[in-house]
Amino acid sequence: KEGRIIMDETAIRRALTRIAHEIVEKNKGIEGCVLIGIRTRGIYIAERIADRIREIEGLPVEVNELDITLYRDDRGKDSGAAKDDGRQKLNVQDKRVILFDDVLYTGRTIRAAMDALMDCGRPQSIQLAVLVDRGHRELPIRPDYVGKNVPTSKQEQIILSLLEVDDEDKVTIIH
Ligand code: 5GP
Ligand code: MG
Repeated sequence: KEGRIIMDETAIRRALTRIAHEIVEKNKGIEGCVLIGIRTRGIYIAERIADRIREIEGLPVEVNELDITLYRDDRGKDSGAAKDDGRQKLNVQDKRVILFDDVLYTGRTIRAAMDALMDCGRPQSIQLAVLVDRGHRELPIRPDYVGKNVPTSKQEQIILSLLEVDDEDKVTIIH
């Protein structure tokens, strides 16, 4: 398959640094915020941003993980029991939650993530940061922070590799 690199290591690094500054600016600091990464790659993105914010602000930054597999609306209704078993307790009460994912597409993952968060308490607010927004939303969800907007066709796919799990930092689009 034909592939084209749309972000290299440098582009990813700069985008994450910019987002870290945008988060600090929008929230007038980082107090009361918790960074929550959606399972697998969103977690590494959240951790990298947290490192940068610690450098910028000189303050501790809380990072947590969320696995929303059990909340997806495309899973069978019979997964109800499993949902109870897998329910996580995150401290979100009165926090400014900043959610992180690698790629934003239809918005269904983020809807499910918000569902899971609301089960844990009442956040003061929820913001969304993604490394790539590839469009094609099916729900009224928009990101507050975007690494790169990448207009795609539904047939195209984004390959997003991160050093922590894929041994390199690279974003590729394949047709
Ligand atoms: P959505 O729920 O918005 O339809 O899809 C977003 C979720 O599916 C994200 O967690 C993301 O990891 C994954 N995803 C959707 N499209 C792509 C894509 O083109 N490339 C990659 N790497 N992940 C995608
Ligand atoms: Mg994902």
